[in-house]
Order: sequence, then structure tokens, then C-alpha cells
Amino acid sequence: MLNGGDLVTFRKKLLGWFHQFRRDLPWRQTRDPYRIWLSEIMLQQTRVAAVIPYYEKFLKHFPNVHALANAPQEEVLRIWSGLGYYGRARNLHKAAQQIVANHEGNFPHVAADLLALPGIGKYTAAAILSIAFEKQLAVLDGNVARVLARLAAVRGDVRESQRWQTLQGSADSYLDPDSPGDWNQAMMELGATLCTPKSPQCLLCPVAQFCEGRKLGIAESLPEKRQKRATVEVTLAAGVFTDKNGWTLLLPPPEEESTVALADYIPTLVSRLWHFPTVSVTGDASKNLRASLRKLLRGGGNGNLRLAPAGKVRHSVTYRDITIVPFRINVKKLPRIKGTRRAPLDDINSALPVSNLTRKVARAVLAVSAAP
Ligand code: SF4
Repeated sequence: MLNGGDLVTFRKKLLGWFHQFRRDLPWRQTRDPYRIWLSEIMLQQTRVAAVIPYYEKFLKHFPNVHALANAPQEEVLRIWSGLGYYGRARNLHKAAQQIVANHEGNFPHVAADLLALPGIGKYTAAAILSIAFEKQLAVLDGNVARVLARLAAVRGDVRESQRWQTLQGSADSYLDPDSPGDWNQAMMELGATLCTPKSPQCLLCPVAQFCEGRKLGIAESLPEKRQKRATVEVTLAAGVFTDKNGWTLLLPPPEEESTVALADYIPTLVSRLWHFPTVSVTGDASKNLRASLRKLLRGGGNGNLRLAPAGKVRHSVTYRDITIVPFRINVKKLPRIKGTRRAPLDDINSALPVSNLTRKVARAVLAVSAAP
């Protein structure tokens, strides 16, 4: 652990580097806690380049916490659509409503109040409070943990509870009390740009002289890998009804009024958003799908459907490798089924919030239809 003069130099070098080389990101031009909160939530599990256009679009629609709190959830999900991990958008919306209801629309600046909001954990609370309000709270996420593990040559799984606590202790003691917001951003920036998971650029690193991992020649192998769960292969079939005007039928988010039996993991795959009728396959995909569609159409259409295969779509979610077999089902009129909605197949997201997976399925069906 660094202390005394070494700690002073370490802080000076890292902050100096950050002020000179930091990337010019839209959320770095503000101290507005609403905007910082939004960026932190969007950046969870998503790359900076992917976040920037969504961040700007989201702020255009919901420029402040009141606008977000007053919007219907479906509209929030529609604007978020494509960014993935939709629980983040649901929590943002709920938290905005609580900030308006319980804090008169003023962003809380006490950790306990922030931690009581949905979707805000210790890391996000520390990031918002330090960057927006200069509170002395050190952030620790995967990026920062990697830097700290390398600096002190920490071996073993950094996510292991005791080790994580130790790293939080290091993060707390390194935090620059005079500029905690910039300090946290500097640590994150180092992890994102130089001290990257593969091939850390130690020659350019402003704090290389303090790095035990580099001195021992083991920086690249830290943090040590966790045991990976074995991959599970899953096959699904999706039914894409299409009428003569190019409109299609979507089922509601699974937790609401689902009208067709769904395997228990499908809600996660479709991110609890609007989706095509989708079933898990054990054997003949068209047979499985037809049987489920019959149930879906019971009393609302005829079961005599022509299922035209439309290639295959591949998708990975955590440890699952998923293959989806989409079928186009041309119909004169879309079946009328309670709780379902219609949307133009070539622009489904303009009408309803859907996941990337649902969009991939729509594109596969459109590609086959467009082929000569
Ligand atoms: Fe990371 Fe290399 Fe800097 Fe150590 S010297 S903190 S491994 S970039």
C-alpha cells in the first residue's frame, strides 16, 4: 500500500495525466447529477462508443428528472431500446419517480438516500456523489479493481468478497481528498485506456513506477481469471406473422399478460419487452412452434398456418449460446388476440420497445423476403 511521499507523487502523476489526456466525453462537461447518473447507468456493461448516441438521445427526450419521472415506462423503454439490459431503464424510471415524490425532484446527496433508489449500488452512488458533489467516496468496479490488483500484484479472484473489500480499502486510501470526482474518473480512465484487460500499455502509464504487477512481469495475467460456467446451447423458434401491408404481431412483455407458454429463460432473452411468439425447441422447430401457435390462436384464428423458414439467428447471453429459427407466417389479416399489438415489421421499434434479439429476428425475416 502506498503512503507518505509515494502516495503524494502517485496522486500527482495520475491526476496530471488525466487532466492532459482524458477523453472528451459528453458527461464530462457537466456536474449535473442527473446527467452523471444517466451516464453511469448506461456505461454499466456497455462500451463508451455505444453509449454516446443513446445518452444524447435520452437527454433530448428526458432532459431532467421531472421529464423522466412523468414519462410512461413504455416510452422510456422505447428510447432505451437497443442498448440492452433493460432492467437499467426500468430502474432509472422508478428512481426518477421516487426522487420527484420523496425529494421534491432534487437529487439526493447523501449516500443512504441514493442507495435506497432502485438500480443504485455502492459504485454508482460513489461515482455520482464524488463527481457531482465532490464527496470523498472512492469507486470500485471491475475496471478500477483491475488497476488496483495490478498495482499491488494481487493474485486470486478479485470478486471474492474478502479480496474485494481489501481492494475497496486500497481505493479509499488512494482517493485524493482534494478532488475525489476527478480522482475517481482518473482511475476509471486509466483502466479503460491504458491498463486494459489485454495488453496493458505500461510504457505510457503515468504510475508505472509504483506498479508491482509490472515489476514482477505478471501485469497482463492479473486479475486472475474466474472459473467460467460451461456454455449451454439453446434452440428457439419464433413465429413472425406478416400481413399484406407488412405489419406484424408482437406479444407483450412476458411478466405482463403473456398469452403463449414461454420457457422460463425466454423473458430474460427478450429482455421483458415486446417480442415475437417464441418457443424452445426440442426436435422439429416448425412442429414445436406450430403446436404453441395453435394454443396462442385458440379461438382467435385458424391453426392451419404455413410456416416459411427464414434462416437462423445467433445470439449469446452470458453462458447461453442461442440459435433462433425464425418462421415467416403470411396471413391476410393478423390474428386478433387480447394483449397483443401490431407494428410495421421493418420498423418495429418505432411503435414498441423491443430487444436487439427481436430486431435481429425481424431483420432475418425481411432479408429472406427481399431475396430474389
Ligand atoms: Fe496497469 Fe501497466 Fe500501469 Fe501497472 S504499469 S497500472 S499494469 S498500465
